[in-house]
Parts: sequence; structure tokens; C-alpha cells
Amino acid sequence: MPQSRHPLKLLLLSTSVGALGSGLGGGVELTLKNIAHALQQRGHQITIVAPSNSVLEGVFLVTIAGELQTTAQTQGRDAPITLPNDSVLANMWAYARQHQPDYDLLINFAYDWLPFYVTPFFDRPIAHLVSMGSLTDAMDQVIEQVALEFPGTIAVHSHAQAKTFEFADQCRNVQNGFDLSLYKFCARPKHQLAWVGRIAPEKGLEDAVAAAQIVGTPLKIWGVIQDTAYWNQICADYPDAPIDYCGFLPTSELQHRLGQSQALLMTPRWIEAFGNVAIEALACGVPVIAYRRGGPTEIVRDGETGWLVEPDRVDELVSAISKLDRLDRPACRRQAEAEYSLDAMGDRLEAWFEAILKRV
Ligand code: UDP
Repeated sequence: MPQSRHPLKLLLLSTSVGALGSGLGGGVELTLKNIAHALQQRGHQITIVAPSNSVLEGVFLVTIAGELQTTAQTQGRDAPITLPNDSVLANMWAYARQHQPDYDLLINFAYDWLPFYVTPFFDRPIAHLVSMGSLTDAMDQVIEQVALEFPGTIAVHSHAQAKTFEFADQCRNVQNGFDLSLYKFCARPKHQLAWVGRIAPEKGLEDAVAAAQIVGTPLKIWGVIQDTAYWNQICADYPDAPIDYCGFLPTSELQHRLGQSQALLMTPRWIEAFGNVAIEALACGVPVIAYRRGGPTEIVRDGETGWLVEPDRVDELVSAISKLDRLDRPACRRQAEAEYSLDAMGDRLEAWFEAILKRV
């Protein structure tokens, strides 16, 4: 791992929809962890601010009490900005304001209005890593204001995500990076398919369940049940589907069991900003069958490390599953190593920070 020539003091502010380690923060939790480790390995000094009960080993963590934010993806386009009484988000940013002189740069991981709104009032620069595509008008407006007033400070995970915003050309694509040593290659899978993610309507689990029922292959499901009514509806609609809900697992266990799958199915209804689980699967040698929509279209090499299929078409998922033997599991692992290592991510982040700090 190359040591940085200019070690920085960096304050990373986590999402405020859940504690780190709870799974409620979705992909942001692993993204934050990976970024913290990538930067620490290069000699940067990292502090993370996160809600109470957060757990993250090996990084200096400041936990802050308060009420959690609700998740943005459950609201409509015209949803107003809301903050609960004793908001943890507000409390985290009060901490940031007070301690900013100790840092070179602050990095915001929350898809929330407040950190963007307060950006001009801070002395230190703030880099914003936007974790989702366009969801509400109020968010679009506040992110655009920051993009225009502080050029270069907005980053995203894919071009597809950037394109959901009118200010796409102001967004820097940093993709994502993973500690690939934690993911073991599995050459011989079991007779099972996998689906991994928050169980919530925008993730489209029902299509994967329908496909598994048609092909008769067991579908293992891992992830937090964020929307219980949605999950119950799937169980009611597909009582005979060969599905097995296996809970929310830590990375070490998830990669072991995911690795034993013939393929990962990604069936999002929304424009997935990136799709961490795609890289986690590839790193284990598991090909990805994904809807041709959002981040996965920039990850999956169609016909080599997976199949990209017409969105919302269960029949296309079924035909892709029947062609899995044409894909090459070692090529999946090789792609993860070539494009999505912590080192590759570290290079992209350092270049982003350097560009921001040059303008200050
Ligand atoms: N995840 C996990 N354990 C599980 C299931 C999922 O740690 O049992 C994590 C997974 O590693 C990934 C995240 O949940 O980082 C899902 O992120 P993704 O980017 O795929 O989707 P998001 O939830 O952000 O929409």
C-alpha cells in the first residue's frame, strides 16, 4: 500500500439513519469502513463520527447520541426536509463544527439535507460522497447549490447515479473499493442462487423470488428486513418458492456463504447508485445477473462476469440463469482485483481530496 506524501487529518461523518454495524445504513456502512481503512493504510489520520451504538474496529470512532433520521428512499419527490427532536444528524454536525480546526477536510457520507446546507458556514472544506441517485427535489436543490458554489466537492459511485441529477457533469465518480483479502474465491458452488441487500421495495426482491421459483433453484437471501410488510407480502405471494431467509451476516460469514452460490441476482427497481454486493459476489468468484439499470451496468461485464438483462423481466432472469455455465468464475475474481481493490479506491480518493484542497 503506497504511503501518501501528504498525510491528511480527515473527519468522516457517517449516515445518520442507523448505527454502523446495524445494516440500516445499507451500503454506506461498508463503504465508510472500506474508505477509512484504505486511507488509514496510506498514513492519513482518520476519525469517524457516527450514531450511538456504532461498531467499527480499528478506527477512532466518536459516537453521538440522538434520534435517527428516516431513510430518504421511502419518501416522495416533494417530501419536505424533516429533522426529529434531538436529531443525531444535527448533533453530529454540531460536533463537526466545533472540532473542524483539528482537521484538513471533512467528508460527509449522509444523504441528507443538513450537511449540504451547512457547508458554506464551515471554515474547513467538506467533501460530499453522495450515496444515492436523485430522490427528492429538496435534496437535488441543496446538492446542486453546493456543487456550484464549491466545485469538485461532490462525488458519486457511478455515471448512472450522476445522470439522475441535472448537475451530472459536476459529479466526480469514485466508484468503490473493497478489502479483497476478506473475500475468498470459491471455485465450486452449491446448487443455490443468492440475493443480498436491504429488504425494501426499491430492491425488487420479488422478481428474484419469482425467477427462483420458475427454475427451481434454492434462493438464499441475506440482509436486513427494513420493510416488514413488504417481506410478508413476498412470502404470501410466493408460498412455494424455494427461498431461505438467512438473516443479516457480518462480512466474514456473508462472503463464505455468498461464495457458495452459482450467481447473485440483482433486481433493483430504482437506479442503484453502485451496488456493493455486486463486487462482494465477484470477489468470491460469483457471477452477477443484474437488471440493466444503474450502477451494476457499469460493473458487470456482460457475458464474462455476469449477465445484464432487461429490467423488470423475470423471464430474462430465468434465461440468464440457464446460461450461467458460459461464465468464468476466476474472471469474476480477477475483475474485482483489477478494478475494485482498496488500493484502487485509495488512489481515486486521494486525487479527489487533492483537487479539493488545491482550491481552498
Ligand atoms: N450486507 C451485509 N450483510 C448481509 C447482507 C448485506 O453486511 O447479510 C451489506 C453488504 O455487504 C452491502 C450492503 O449490505 O455493503 C448493501 O449495500 P448495497 O450497496 O448493495 O445496497 P444499498 O443497501 O446501499 O441500497
